[in-house]
Amino acid sequence: MIEARGLTKQYGDKRAVDDVTFSIAPGQVTGFLGPNGAGKSTTMRLILGLDKASSGTVTVNGMRYSEMASPLTQVGALLDAKGVHPGRTARSHLRAIAATHGISDRRVNDVLEQTGLESVAHKRVGGYSLGMGQRLGIAAALLGDPGVLILDEPVNGLDPDGVRWIRELLRFLASEGRTVLLSSHLMTEMAQTADHIIVLARGQVKADAPLAEFLDVQ
Ligand code: ADP
Ligand code: ADP
Repeated sequence: MIEARGLTKQYGDKRAVDDVTFSIAPGQVTGFLGPNGAGKSTTMRLILGLDKASSGTVTVNGMRYSEMASPLTQVGALLDAKGVHPGRTARSHLRAIAATHGISDRRVNDVLEQTGLESVAHKRVGGYSLGMGQRLGIAAALLGDPGVLILDEPVNGLDPDGVRWIRELLRFLASEGRTVLLSSHLMTEMAQTADHIIVLARGQVKADAPLAEFLDVQ
């Protein structure tokens, strides 16, 4: 469960997130839908404690990110391509994160398997395609077996197979009872992935409803 109350983020004169209130339920995929600049990324960064709110609050399972004893076990995130050293292998990258957080090597193997990276885990990340890079990002997000997953535009730039794979994985993870939140600027993408949509525009929530309410089909 992710809850925002009156959440606001001001950058100078710019109000990137403007008095936003929402509840995101577990066991389903929720999408932030909105055009470029709508405030999707900023809201995610506020949830993850990567930015400080100007006012209002946002909590995950009742706790602010900064209050969590072991955040990786509660919230996993895939933001825009974070720098993995290109000379590193996928396995060594994941092992390094795991080691810092007291997570076992066995769990590294599990997430490599779940993201279909086992056969390339010994290869340097510099040679990875965009889709493989996204899988690695998701593998890292899953390391702590978190109940909440946050993904910023996870299918951007991927080929149809890559898009389908991420969609199926997210739906599976939600079916396990996790809270899955992703962002997209494409309604067509949301219609195929999300159960519930929160429309953001100019930093404000313009709609917050089950997918069925946006579509003329059942
Ligand atoms: P989205 O993810 O929906 O594309 P963002 O959350 O990235 O939107 O951005 C929302 C608004 O806030 C945009 O107008 C953007 O330019 C502005 N913004 C985002 N981050 C910063 C920042 N660090 N400094 C100044 N303005 C920012
Ligand atoms: P079990 O061994 O209890 O049958 P599963 O076959 O359900 O377990 O899952 C084995 C591993 O594969 C788990 O890590 C699970 O999260 C993952 N997994 C199972 N099905 C999928 C799927 N459709 N997409 C992604 N991961 C999956």
